Amino acid sequence: MYCVNCGNLLNENDDACKKCGHPVKNKQNTNNQEVVRHHNVQQEEKVSALIVSIIGIVGWALIVFIPLFMTAQ
Ligand SMILES: [Zn+2]
Repeated sequence: MYCVNCGNLLNENDDACKKCGHPVKNKQNTNNQEVVRHHNVQQEEKVSALIVSIIGIVGWALIVFIPLFMTAQ
């Protein structure tokens, strides 16, 4: 893993960056969890947007095609 402060390559046993002294071990784990959580939220938003657009397309298709079927009969 890398220092969040200066980008220096760290050993997993290091509590602080050898280059800049920035404490990294616990903060790095917290940051990773936040990134994963944020990534999941983004995926859920994409799925929601997809569902909304599908519903929109289906609704639009119904509005356009139902009058066509009604007039055909
Ligand atoms: Zn550093």
